[in-house]
Amino acid sequence: MLGYVGIEAVLDQLKIKAMKMGFEFNIMVVGQSGLGKSTMVNTLFKSKMWKSTMPGLGVPTPQTLQLQSVTHVIEESGVKLKLTVTDTPGFGDQINNDKCWDPILGYINEQYEHYLQEEILITRQRHIPDTRVHCCVYFVPPTGHWLRPLDIEFLRRLCRTVNVVPVIARADSLTIEEREAFRHRVIWAPGTSLGSVGVWSGGECTGGLRSSVCGPQIQENLKTHGIEVYPQQCFDEDINDKILNSKIRERIPFAVVGADQEHIVNGRCVLGRKTKWGIIEVENMAHCEFPLLRDLLIRSHLQDLKDITHNVHYENYRIFRLNESHV
Ligand code: GDP
Ligand code: MG
Repeated sequence: MLGYVGIEAVLDQLKIKAMKMGFEFNIMVVGQSGLGKSTMVNTLFKSKMWKSTMPGLGVPTPQTLQLQSVTHVIEESGVKLKLTVTDTPGFGDQINNDKCWDPILGYINEQYEHYLQEEILITRQRHIPDTRVHCCVYFVPPTGHWLRPLDIEFLRRLCRTVNVVPVIARADSLTIEEREAFRHRVIWAPGTSLGSVGVWSGGECTGGLRSSVCGPQIQENLKTHGIEVYPQQCFDEDINDKILNSKIRERIPFAVVGADQEHIVNGRCVLGRKTKWGIIEVENMAHCEFPLLRDLLIRSHLQDLKDITHNVHYENYRIFRLNESHV
């Protein structure tokens, strides 16, 4: 019988390699105009995780007229992350919103195509630059009612192409009860309330915001539309994934508030929205769930989002394109 070989040393090698290579991660924000997408891009870049490395923004957000990407390289404890956020013009302003998803889906597929063209070269780059969208954050208007048919149509198409995390936009306009009721109407997965597992900090933060009502009829309602947002149940690999992801599914869509201005609250500098009644702090879980969104994207599920993009969404595209070119 073999004695101890020490194969776990491979873990150190993987870590060193990953630190040398760094990570590329691409997010896209999508939704009707005026829901706070551009503000959220700034919120993500200004939030406390890497605030000190970001240049001051502070200028009012102009209306987004075309797709535009902002990239920042963030370095923390020797790990480099090249984070790109693609902002998109709002849709839904036209009388006829038919095909308003075309430019967005077109962009996502174009990135798959770039990657495919590089990958099929005989002499190819050792590292193919990755511009594929790893996660699309979809802004749902805070109507407090059901999802609108336009959002359902959009989401249905989007979920087939890319990982989608829906959020309730401008959540400060809803009461806590309205947020909860809306969330449960919007989403289907009842999930299970088990003890805290994994690194997703949302498991720890109850903040008095939860309720457990979720009608199976709603579950059926969205299922019939074939909308499966991230983290998709069918990709849970083991029981730990299942437990952790169920907790996330239970809380999605996160009710978020965006802000790009800093204020002093009790001697602390916070990112928030100043209103007549006080400051809504974006980092404060008692005020909104922006921290859950940021943690999911950048902290706990970054690699999983990349893996699903590569192994599922890009793979579907690749199979489709290669079949197409061989007929
Ligand atoms: P976009 O069209 O989706 O990119 O929306 P913008 O980011 O340009 O924001 C439109 C307006 O909504 C601006 O006046 C923002 O200051 C405001 N806004 C953005 N996020 C929020 C939010 O979470 N709550 C509230 N009340 N207003 C917001
Ligand atoms: Mg905008």
